[in-house]
Formats: sequence, structure tokens, C-alpha cells
Amino acid sequence: ALSDRLGNVFDSLRGRGALKEDDVRTAMREVRIALLEADVALPVVRRFIDTVTERAIGAEVLRSVTPGQQVVKIVNDALVEMLGGDPEEGGSSQAAQNAVGLDLDAKPPVVIMMVGLQGSGKTTSTAKIAKRLKETEGKKVMMASLDVNRPAAQEQLAILGEQAGVATLPIVAGQQPVDIANRAISSAKLQSFDVLMLDTAGRLHVDEALMAEMKAVASVSTPREVLLVVDSLTGQDAVNVAQSFTGEVPLTGVVLTRMDGDARGGAALSMRAVTGKPIKFAGTGEKLDAIEAFHPSRVANRILGMGDIVSMVEKAATAVKEEDAERLAKRMAKGEFDMNDLRMQLQQMTRMGGIGAIAGMLPGMKKAKAAMAQSGMDDKVLLHMDAIISSMTPKEREKPQLLNARRKKRIAAGSGTQVQDVNKLLKMHQEMAKAMKQIKKMGGLKGLGQLFG
Ligand code: GDP
Ligand code: MG
Repeated sequence: ALSDRLGNVFDSLRGRGALKEDDVRTAMREVRIALLEADVALPVVRRFIDTVTERAIGAEVLRSVTPGQQVVKIVNDALVEMLGGDPEEGGSSQAAQNAVGLDLDAKPPVVIMMVGLQGSGKTTSTAKIAKRLKETEGKKVMMASLDVNRPAAQEQLAILGEQAGVATLPIVAGQQPVDIANRAISSAKLQSFDVLMLDTAGRLHVDEALMAEMKAVASVSTPREVLLVVDSLTGQDAVNVAQSFTGEVPLTGVVLTRMDGDARGGAALSMRAVTGKPIKFAGTGEKLDAIEAFHPSRVANRILGMGDIVSMVEKAATAVKEEDAERLAKRMAKGEFDMNDLRMQLQQMTRMGGIGAIAGMLPGMKKAKAAMAQSGMDDKVLLHMDAIISSMTPKEREKPQLLNARRKKRIAAGSGTQVQDVNKLLKMHQEMAKAMKQIKKMGGLKGLGQLFG
């Protein structure tokens, strides 16, 4: 596991404050190997490492956490993000229209087309998803097998349909895939099925005939979802498959099968990166109930094997947040407000989901939000401000009045901003500091309460 690999590196990572470039690069060499061992495709590894390196250099190390642990957390977060974000944390933008996370918003019968190589698990996944749709969404589902290549493929689906209690299109010998698709659509229409699932043929390798067939089927059935089924055990190979299908058929998502095996989960990261589509399901066994929503954080843990460190750092972060809040309350009572305080406020806003989210939570904030948008105050500005404050020395943060023209220029260069941005931030700080003083004059927060009575 990565934990063993990083063991030595951790010991050599030193210091508090910000992560140093050399240390980050050393740690990334180990992360790179861990990703390759988890079967993440090489180009995806490269891209990932670049992103994380950039993010990690200069990142602050939390109190009570070692630099090595902080690196692990950063790597983990980036992994989860690249895997599509955790739904629990509102990270997944894929609006789950229903419990199964499929888009069924079309005139019935809504067509779901399953594509992939032979043996990837298409037929099994088709039956699993159909069963789900029936049981959790109460949908009337029909399945049809378009696999005329593999002997008994259509019978296989019929048997699974019986097990799942899901209807299948009656088999007519000698029909070609497009004809079967057309027949399935008419039949599903006639019998008012809500959803029609098309289980297509695979090949051992991607070839032109297969792609032509998939395109033809897609064009007659206009599927609402086209799910690429990939065996998570195939690792690097899965990328080639994904690349071939992407662009040929309008993929909407990925089903990763055999996640119950000992795959390290690398295929998930590769799939996401290559197709740009969400992983909608994970197959976890041969039985028809063995299918789950995809959980990025679980897979990240599988790839890194460092869940313990991640949760430890998260706990440390919570503790720091609480300390920060206490500190701020004390300082407010004294009428003090420096750049560290401002930064904490900005970070809190970011954590809460940015300006939009905060404005959305408060009643009557619509106007304020519009005003902020007009003055160019958006979430990017929050990030810029954070970068500006990060480029200040600790002394400057405590005493912003030290900032003369020379220092401002240095800070602007260090944060990739303009001197006028630095000035804007200083102005904002001054106004907030003034407000703090006034609050103190009025008798602290108690006085403020009286004012708003
Ligand atoms: P197809 O050729 O793509 O239609 O693949 P099949 O659906 O016929 O699956 C091939 C084999 O893989 C079958 O024996 C399935 O039972 C098995 N299989 C499919 N999905 C999973 C999974 O998530 N886990 C495990 N362990 N086996 C699976
Ligand atoms: Mg099949």
C-alpha cells in the first residue's frame, strides 16, 4: 500500500507552515507508483500528479498533523474530486433525478443502451439495473438483447429477466440488431413500458463493425442513457475501450463491474478522466442485487489505502475550525481584526459553498448577491484574496499597515494578481476592521444585538 511506500518519505518531510516544493515532489513520486500499481492509466496518472503537485506546494499544514499526512489528504481530496465528488458532501453535480441516478426524463419508453466489450458484464448489469428500476422506482421495464453474435446471448437475458421479474422481448431467430431494436421500441410502446433497456453485443476487441453497429442502434433508438460497461479488473485496457467508444456513441455514464474482485480501483479514475462521464454504478458480484451507486471516497481509499490518515486529518481540521471560531470571537470582543481574521472569514465562506451558496441561504440576500456579482465579487475573487493573503509574511498579516508600494508589488507577483487587487483587499480589510472597532465601542456583540433589537 501507499502507506508503506510513503513511510520513509513522511519521516523526511519536515516543518510546519507551508508544504515545500521538494517535499511535495518527493511524495508525489511515491503517489505516482501507487497509482500505477492500482492500474491507473499512465496519461491519467501524469495529469493527476500535475494537478495535485500544483495544489500541494505551498499548502498549509494543519496543526497536529505532519506534512506527510497533509499531503495524503490533499491527494485523497483530489482523487475524490476527479472520481466525481462525493454525493454526501454535495460534490456530485450529476443531479440524481431518482434513486438510481439515471436520467429518465423523456417520452416513454425511455431507452437505456448498454455498450461494452464481450464479457465486461453488460447483460448482467442490464438485468441488475432493470431490477433496480422496477423495485426502487416502480418502473415498468422491458429488456431486449441485441446480441446476435454470441450463441445463447438472448436466452441468457431471458433467464435473467425471469429471475429479476422483468419482461424481455420475445426472441425471433435471424433478426439483425437494428431490427430487434425497432421491434423492441414498438413492442414497448404498445405495451406502455416506461423504460426499454437495450443489451447490445460486444466483441473481444473494439473494431469498426462493432462501432458501426452501436451507431446504427443508437440512431434508431435515440437512447436517453448510453452506459459503457467496463470490467474494473482490466485496468489499463479499459482506457483503450473507453477511448474507442467515446465520440462514436453518445456515452452518458459508466458502469464499473467486478468491483468485488481485487481490482485496486484504478480503472475508475481512468474512466472518469477519459470519458468525462460519471460512473453511475459499481457491480459488486454475480447476483442480481450486487450493484451499488458509485462511491468516490471508498474507491479513493481503495487506491490509496490511507483512509485512516484521511479521517485523522479531517478531525484535525474540525478542531482547528473550532479554535479559529473561538479566536475570532475573542478578537472581535477586543475590536481587533487583522489579515489572519479576514482570511479565516474568506475561507469559511469558501467552505460553506462560496458566495452564491451563502447568499442563497439567507433571506433577502438576492439583492446583495446581485450587487456582489456586479462589483465582480465572485468565488474566483475569494480565491484570489486567499492567494494574496497567503503571499504576505506573517508580520504583514498582523500589521497590514506595513504594506508599502514595494511590498504590495511583491505580494501581487507572488499571488498572480495585480497591485490594484491587493489594494482592493486592503480596503475591504480596513472597512471590516473599522466595523469591528465600532462593535467594540457599542459594547461588543451585545451592543450589536441591541442595535438590531
Ligand atoms: P457481457 O458479455 O458483457 O454481457 O457479460 P455478462 O453479463 O455475460 O458477464 C460475464 C460474466 O461476468 C458473468 O459470469 C457474470 O456473472 C460476471 N459478472 C458480471 N458483473 C459482475 C460483477 O460485478 N462481479 C462479478 N464477480 N462478476 C460479474
Ligand atoms: Mg451479453
